[in-house]
Amino acid sequence: MKRLPLILATAAILLSAATAHAAERHEIAFPDLPGQKTLKCDFHMHTVFSSDGKVWPTVRVDEAWRLGLDAIAITDHIECQPHKADVPTKHNRPYELAAGHARILDILLIKATEITRNLPPGHFNALFLSDINPLETKDFVEAVKQANKQGAFVFWNHQAWQGEERGSWRDVHTTLYDGKLLHGMEICNDLGGGYFPTAHKWCMEKRLTMVGNSDTHAPDLRKKSAPGDHRTLTLVFAKQRTIPAVKEALQAGRTAVWFRQQIIGRKEHLAPLFDKCVRVERPHLRNENVVWTKVRNVCDLDIVLKRTGELGPMELRLPARATTLLKIVAKTPDEPLDLKYSATNFLIAPGKNLDVVLRVGCVRDAP
Ligand code: ZN
Repeated sequence: MKRLPLILATAAILLSAATAHAAERHEIAFPDLPGQKTLKCDFHMHTVFSSDGKVWPTVRVDEAWRLGLDAIAITDHIECQPHKADVPTKHNRPYELAAGHARILDILLIKATEITRNLPPGHFNALFLSDINPLETKDFVEAVKQANKQGAFVFWNHQAWQGEERGSWRDVHTTLYDGKLLHGMEICNDLGGGYFPTAHKWCMEKRLTMVGNSDTHAPDLRKKSAPGDHRTLTLVFAKQRTIPAVKEALQAGRTAVWFRQQIIGRKEHLAPLFDKCVRVERPHLRNENVVWTKVRNVCDLDIVLKRTGELGPMELRLPARATTLLKIVAKTPDEPLDLKYSATNFLIAPGKNLDVVLRVGCVRDAP
């Protein structure tokens, strides 16, 4: 029976080799911001090298290709290796095994690990490492210091996955924070409980970077990422599509989280993102009382708007990657109209949505 995981791992390699180039990639649609690329990233996932991870490292790269991701971090636990008898402790191996395949498929692979302690303090991911071995130490703070010595970006994972009390902010977190050893928090995680409003609040108060990740252990069998069925991902607004640029953007806090049918992030990023996602065309028809125009949603989120002003439908649904016909009752002469809405699935703080204005121009063929 002990050989079973090894057999499974071998089967996974063969399967991966056989299917890697046959499967097509489906891009995720979130537009770039002015001067920045919107990279789709998952910074938390496991392989047979730790926990109950069920796939070989190269399979994670194949998934990233298929699902339209730009960057991934394989973050096997240093301290939790139930397959130790079959897969020996080699903290750097998951990265080494996947790196060549990632280069072929043009996936940015970030060398990383998960530092794992019971709450408190909890689980922490360290990204952009050069050598994971020095992090294997009994002293938790020392492990985080070792990561920082290598210039790592460190974030606290799934803060309230065992309840708010166990996930409360303790002295050890203050030690990390005051020492500038902690840089971000997962505000969403597929495996560990979904959305964490407390972590979200702390990110706002303490200027920590918001990330959201899958924490996947099982194989991801999706053929593509779809609005209603996708991994939780971090959108990174990076100057280029490179690993150093991802690091710079994480350090600067330029991220948002795509969680189910929501985008969560800071207003300064979500406002320009909304403007790039939603394009209001000039009206093609207008009579005394009614203006007709089209609104295009070019992103992978079904956007739902609730009216906060006087004009436009009370609720406006803009399905992903689709054009919606918009009828506005307006008894005004032909002049630009401002439709004021609350974007219900653009979250800029716990319980707070982004306010937006759809500006409708004058009718297209007007002199
Ligand atoms: Zn994990």
